[in-house]
Amino acid sequence: MTLRVQLVFVGEPFNREAVIHTLRHAAMRADWQITLDANAEHRIVYATTDDANEIDARPNDVVILSSRAVADHLQSSDEPFPLGANRLPFPHSLQRNDWICADVIAGACAAMNLWYEERTRADVRDGWIAWRDDWMARVGLSEPAPLADEWLAEIVRAAKQKGWRTSESRDAFTIVLTHDVDYLPGAFDRGLPRVMRAIARQIILRRRPLDAMRLLMRYWQSPQPYFSFDAVMRAEALRGARSSFQLVVAHRHRFDPDYAIAREPIASALQKIAASDWEICLHGSYAATRTPDMLCAERIGLEREIGAPVRGHRQHYLNFYPSRLFDAVERAGLDYDLSVGYNDASGARAGTCFPYRPFNLTANHAHNFWEIPFVLMDTTLATTHCFAPREAFQYSQKILAPIAQARGCVALIWHLEQLSGLLDPGFERVYFDLLDWLCEQGARMVAGKHLVREWQDAWTQTLE
Ligand SMILES: [Zn+2]
Repeated sequence: MTLRVQLVFVGEPFNREAVIHTLRHAAMRADWQITLDANAEHRIVYATTDDANEIDARPNDVVILSSRAVADHLQSSDEPFPLGANRLPFPHSLQRNDWICADVIAGACAAMNLWYEERTRADVRDGWIAWRDDWMARVGLSEPAPLADEWLAEIVRAAKQKGWRTSESRDAFTIVLTHDVDYLPGAFDRGLPRVMRAIARQIILRRRPLDAMRLLMRYWQSPQPYFSFDAVMRAEALRGARSSFQLVVAHRHRFDPDYAIAREPIASALQKIAASDWEICLHGSYAATRTPDMLCAERIGLEREIGAPVRGHRQHYLNFYPSRLFDAVERAGLDYDLSVGYNDASGARAGTCFPYRPFNLTANHAHNFWEIPFVLMDTTLATTHCFAPREAFQYSQKILAPIAQARGCVALIWHLEQLSGLLDPGFERVYFDLLDWLCEQGARMVAGKHLVREWQDAWTQTLE
């Protein structure tokens, strides 16, 4: 049964709305309802002070300590968030065993909203953040870690210690399957220029001349190279899985794909998918989330072609500024976004393996869409790590096993081109082997549209 929890502020927090908003994510996990009702049986005291005497806490209150230094850091520092013992953020000068002496809420809020990136990379012209430039790398982590999850879990752990009745997590381990469509052949070329590019990539980048040969063979044997929507959906259906395909609607930049969604046979294929249990999402063109209202126009254009609502999105090339991405997704009227992850690393870029609601700290505005973090992408395995298929499979298991354990919900990306067998030979097999393994782990494997209602309901319940 839902536990009513009063949130009590002592002193002026770094941002009152952001504290409540961030705490609601912990409440979703723990089945709590945050209230301002002073008669609630349980209390979380969020204290922004250096003076313990100001904190009038009852024995079974959960106390979280913050300070002016937190607000100062968030407003003006270009340094990574300070970590103390047990990797807890913003360690406090006061130390008491029965209190949380670190601002786990400010830390989670800053990590989930890519606050470090926004402060330090606001004028970067193109591209994605490299792992080495991310704050987690800069504080010495060897790989991304779900720190925001750990920090919010600290609040639930403290509550258990105080004897609060806690219900078992209702979360089911969930994988949102997504396929970015970065290439489809032209009307007359059967994709020959693209396969030549893939062959050069095997020889020069991956140094696998045998794979270059395999690509050529595969290409000659394909009746309809790259056009593998049906085959992918059939293979997923066999495993009880559903997925989404992300499509680009405009060619405005040299990095944008040049297929046209209105052309046959693409148009019919997309309409059929949109009317099925699978999903068509928008793959924002290269500059879409960096240009005012472009994403909204692209969403409308895609809806017109497929004859169905478009609810999800991923920015092509992950080319975005955090603040503008979140604003653009909201303004485009989308229900969820899938862009937060690394290009050259695997794991939780926003520190979380759960869908979350972004918060704009500059405008003091809670966004009304879901960010579904992606933690794994086929091309990271093939390009950054230069893995052979077997290594790619084992590494993927290593990344996903702790998320299964935590009953998280994350997205993974396997490009349609990869699943056509025309990018990195053997990697199409890795994907389906991974689905089989995920099945054994009890994962739900779905498209984003199947989940939004569920999160929406859970979110609404977190606040009285
Ligand atoms: Zn793309």
